[in-house]
Amino acid sequence: MQTLVREPVTAWVALGANLGDARQAVLQAFEALDKLPGTRLIARSRLYRSAPHQAQGPDFVNAVAQLDTSLSAPALLEALQALESEAGRERPYVNAPRTLDLDLILYGQSRIDSPRLQVPHPRWRERAFVLLPLSDVCPASVSPEDRARVADQPIDLLFEDSP
Ligand code: AMP
Repeated sequence: MQTLVREPVTAWVALGANLGDARQAVLQAFEALDKLPGTRLIARSRLYRSAPHQAQGPDFVNAVAQLDTSLSAPALLEALQALESEAGRERPYVNAPRTLDLDLILYGQSRIDSPRLQVPHPRWRERAFVLLPLSDVCPASVSPEDRARVADQPIDLLFEDSP
């Protein structure tokens, strides 16, 4: 697998958690993303609380991180999955509650459609819990039509949003 790219790429990662101390898991994940090889956390969204959408269990804490990274997209996905495992992520069944979920939403302008990785993430424009935090860090990528599409999905700013 190609691990590094020549020029750093801007990537956006969606973070979600709904088991244990979900807020803490998301805040720790921001720090862990900043420590990935060849990677800097450039911006973090505010924290949001959303009702499970095609998933189960308690409400989620959601956020989006903007990264500059020299990791290739597959290497970044592998690193995200390692962070999920370190956070104790188990997959007993599809859409089970999770201690930490990290999805690669956008990787520069790349379009990737491999069995393990699709970028842009296939469902990012259908999810309020991606679009609202993404609009905090990259307003240009979220249109009024995007917002209207997800307007019926319950989501709030998390009140105690201090790092
Ligand atoms: P999940 O259990 O929701 O975290 O889904 C993870 C699965 O989705 C893994 O098998 C990944 O290989 C696959 N996948 C495909 N594209 C992406 C992406 N852009 N970000 C994260 N996972 C992805």
